[in-house]
Amino acid sequence: MAERTRTTGRRAATRDRNAKAGGAARAAAKRVTDEAAAVTRPERLVVEKPPPDPDYPRYRVEPGSRLRLADVDPEESEHYRRKKDVADGLRQQRERIADLQARLYAEKARSLLIVLQAMDTGGKDGTVKGVFQGVNPQGCQVWSFKAPSNEEADHDFLWRYHQKLPPRGMIHIFNRSHYEDVLIVRVKGLVPEETWRPRYHAINQFEHALTLAGVTVLKFMLHISKDEQKRRLENRLANPDKRWKFRLDDLKERALWDDYQRAFEDAVSECTTRHAPWYVVPANKKWYRNLVVARTIADTLAAMDPRYPPAEPGLDKVVVPD
Ligand code: AMP
Ligand code: MG
Repeated sequence: MAERTRTTGRRAATRDRNAKAGGAARAAAKRVTDEAAAVTRPERLVVEKPPPDPDYPRYRVEPGSRLRLADVDPEESEHYRRKKDVADGLRQQRERIADLQARLYAEKARSLLIVLQAMDTGGKDGTVKGVFQGVNPQGCQVWSFKAPSNEEADHDFLWRYHQKLPPRGMIHIFNRSHYEDVLIVRVKGLVPEETWRPRYHAINQFEHALTLAGVTVLKFMLHISKDEQKRRLENRLANPDKRWKFRLDDLKERALWDDYQRAFEDAVSECTTRHAPWYVVPANKKWYRNLVVARTIADTLAAMDPRYPPAEPGLDKVVVPD
């Protein structure tokens, strides 16, 4: 009897200690998550008089809300009418990104992951080209994900993405991403629902773990209309230099347009979080899309506030010998 009481007492003490440690771990995680939530709503930190111009916060999908793509007009461009209206603004945002990226690289403490998703012809490649011009290629890498190789397919679905995450100091852009595993994979029925359904949860945990490790996660869905896709596919067919981009399979995907829109709505609604929000950006007008994405990235980097490391002490007196 006495032995049992002692054992029970010891177990209770262990439980107490574990609970305390668990509480401390949760509190520490919450602090980092709260900081990330502030950084990924950057207008509150870096825009003096919101809303910013362009008004990117309106495209952020808040956690707990349900995205309806029919409610986002792909033609939207606010007060901008034509490409030349955004030229100066876009140049400014590119310069900000280049400057902040240089600081992030030198600081070598944190990193930025940018996820780009869209329907076929939605403009992922064009966004990379239009927004990251002028950024030092040494600090910025693009990873394009195709259908998984046999080796990749033999691992858990996140395995191949994990290997391409940005190390400290780097910006990595995912041109397609782990979201394909709840998009094409779902729409084409490549795995059963009991396999893809839990992935939203796995993705949220994955992105949360990244956040805790100092990776800021920013996700853009470039939203085009079905008519615009038709125009862009026709343009690829008509233009000899663009034909290589056209695949007959693109028409099969286009036939599944509504299924894809539903899959996008679910993926974005399930996986827009405080620390890793989704932005659904009107993308029929390529120049407006570039401006919105560039400003969102520039403000997010500014909110991260990367700093050049301090110089070694005593450099003031250093003379470089002949
Ligand atoms: P593109 O981006 O046009 O070069 O095409 C890449 C192709 O890879 C598209 O057809 C994608 O849907 C496909 N793809 C990308 N990720 C996956 C994935 N996880 N599973 C199956 N197909 C994928
Ligand atoms: Mg394609």
